[in-house]
Amino acid sequence: MSKLKIGWAGLGNMGTPMVKNLLKAGFPVAVYNRTRSKEQEVLDAGATSAKDLAQLSLESDVILVMVSDDAAAKEIFTGADALLAGDVQGKLFINVSTVSPDTSRYLHEQCRNKGAEFMEAPVSGSVKPAQDGTLIILAAGTEQNYQKAKPLFDALGKLTLLVGPVGAGAAAKLAINYFLGLNLQGLAETVLFAQANGVKTEDMLTIINEGACGSGITKLKSPAIRNNEFPAAFALKHLSKDLRLAKEQGLNTPLSTPLYDSFKQAQDAGLGDEDVMAIYKHLANF
Ligand code: NAP
Repeated sequence: MSKLKIGWAGLGNMGTPMVKNLLKAGFPVAVYNRTRSKEQEVLDAGATSAKDLAQLSLESDVILVMVSDDAAAKEIFTGADALLAGDVQGKLFINVSTVSPDTSRYLHEQCRNKGAEFMEAPVSGSVKPAQDGTLIILAAGTEQNYQKAKPLFDALGKLTLLVGPVGAGAAAKLAINYFLGLNLQGLAETVLFAQANGVKTEDMLTIINEGACGSGITKLKSPAIRNNEFPAAFALKHLSKDLRLAKEQGLNTPLSTPLYDSFKQAQDAGLGDEDVMAIYKHLANF
């Protein structure tokens, strides 16, 4: 059976390694990125470049989108000369960016109006799992579309869950990123509190990581704290966006507001393009 022809829009920190894994799995992939020069890395790995977004849809069976936020996703799907501009009957569009459930349902509606299929599949895991093909994929949509996309998900992740109708995957993604935010804020506050009372950073990180409080995320982010260097794997501005979306989706628990405020202040202080763990740098000023 011939492989599905894949279209991919959005080649940032996540999109680039994900496309490389699809190529490695043998899928033909055409790409489009707003800043065209950023396509070179995946072109070198065997992808082809589409003239524009409408062309990307035209020449692909399944089109995936991995862009920053709700506004970018809407623009990519429905803006002038965007993905849905031409005849897209029967195509399957999959949004893998993190957006609100409402935006996801809107994109679904726009696809349906054009006779196209839509799924959402936001991913849990950052650049390293994206490189290793070990993301967790939170798929939502119909069983039929899920089965069609499953070989792609298998190339991108170690686990895919079909969590419900469109909107449920986006909600699951906001929930796990709320938990991520709590962990990062907690890790930073704990190390800074210990430091302020004479405990060495390295000792505190060891106490955390060797005990029951240690986790995948505390271990992953410890080197950034240790070296005081925060190059973006997951940009802080994106987590700030996700915490805002979670609040807009009704999250109103005691920690949700101060947590969002903390990340938003860090973003406003100029740390938005650094890694999420740069919340540590922000809190060090308190
Ligand atoms: P990124 O490195 O900031 O890349 C953003 C991508 O979106 C770039 O390709 C950018 O194009 C494109 N873009 C932004 N606005 C656009 C617009 N108006 N029109 C067209 N393209 C636009 O982001 P990322 O880290 O790859 O994250 C992408 C998505 O995945 C976000 O929703 C994020 O929340 C989610 N996510 C990220 C991680 C992570 O660890 N990084 C993990 C899970 C999920 P240009 O190159 O032209 O700027």
